Amino acid sequence: MTVLRGATTVLQDTPNEISLAVKELLDEIFAVNALKKEDIRCFVFSLTTDIHSFHPAKAARECGYDFAPLFACIEPEITGALPLCIRAMIFAEFPEGNRAVKHIYQRGAKVLRKDISEIYNIALDGLAGSGKSTVAKALAKDYDILYLDTGAMYRACGLKAIRCGISPQDESAVEEMLKTLDVKVEYSGGVQHTILDGEDVSSAIRENAVSMAASHISAHRAVRAKMVEMQREIARSMSCVLDGRDIGTAVLPAAKYKFFLTADSKVRAQRRYDELIARGQTVDFDSLYAEILQRDKQDSERECSPLKPAEDAITVDTSSLGINEVVATIKSLIQKKI
Ligand code: C5P
Repeated sequence: MTVLRGATTVLQDTPNEISLAVKELLDEIFAVNALKKEDIRCFVFSLTTDIHSFHPAKAARECGYDFAPLFACIEPEITGALPLCIRAMIFAEFPEGNRAVKHIYQRGAKVLRKDISEIYNIALDGLAGSGKSTVAKALAKDYDILYLDTGAMYRACGLKAIRCGISPQDESAVEEMLKTLDVKVEYSGGVQHTILDGEDVSSAIRENAVSMAASHISAHRAVRAKMVEMQREIARSMSCVLDGRDIGTAVLPAAKYKFFLTADSKVRAQRRYDELIARGQTVDFDSLYAEILQRDKQDSERECSPLKPAEDAITVDTSSLGINEVVATIKSLIQKKI
């Protein structure tokens, strides 16, 4: 018995999509392997738990694959598995005995198993308050990969300058400070902790004063060189989503998936305002808005790795989209590109 395998994905759980995907997959398996009806003993489909609207076995029968028994089952739920995925196994017996066959993976279904798929990185750059970190966290959770918040690293540098009484704009003082600066990122329970000189500063770096210090300090070449080296090392060793300003342009120009998030500046200021208020901080909307504009200007106009979309990044305007919609948009773009 020879077993031919194949898999495909659908973007939506709709009967039409499922029928088309199943037909496309079986047609290609048959064409590429020059299969004949009489050689086929049975078809087995397995589907991820998010497919409900149509039966792939029925879809196969309806498009002419009705000459052998068809069977379908649901796969166990595997964290990080590709969503909306249909696999097929075709059992065949050839007159000449077993023969070499070509398995077919369509529509991104190659990344079926995280344990055997290649390391990949998702670069998520954008303006402050565009939703990057929330979206990055959601993507990392859904794909079961690491989330690296690169802004937190620059924030830790900014915090160190504040604590040392150094102006983050004073390049030579900052360079001196860098000699003893010890920033690390650690993970516990899937959450990033930013460690500065041995202390967990994950909350302290979210203070509003640190945002501006981070923006100033991140403009220095020496600071960026040190942080970028750490970021690249992490990205090389495991699949991750990185959010920042220069991931697609400078840190990982070869990243497979690149997105640039934008949103109207007032909307972004409102999001930051809500976030800080929820954390119990006292903030004034107008000064927060002015700071966001100033940070945009500083980050975009600096000489070293300015904030801008990579040429091959897809820009997503999140002004009128909820987080779930942004995540769904990005996931569907990733799925189309795999
Ligand atoms: O994203 P977040 O607001 O935490 O970033 C704080 C600051 O760190 C940004 O305003 C930006 O100046 C800087 N940054 C950067 N490059 C990155 C991430 C953040 O320059 N990759």
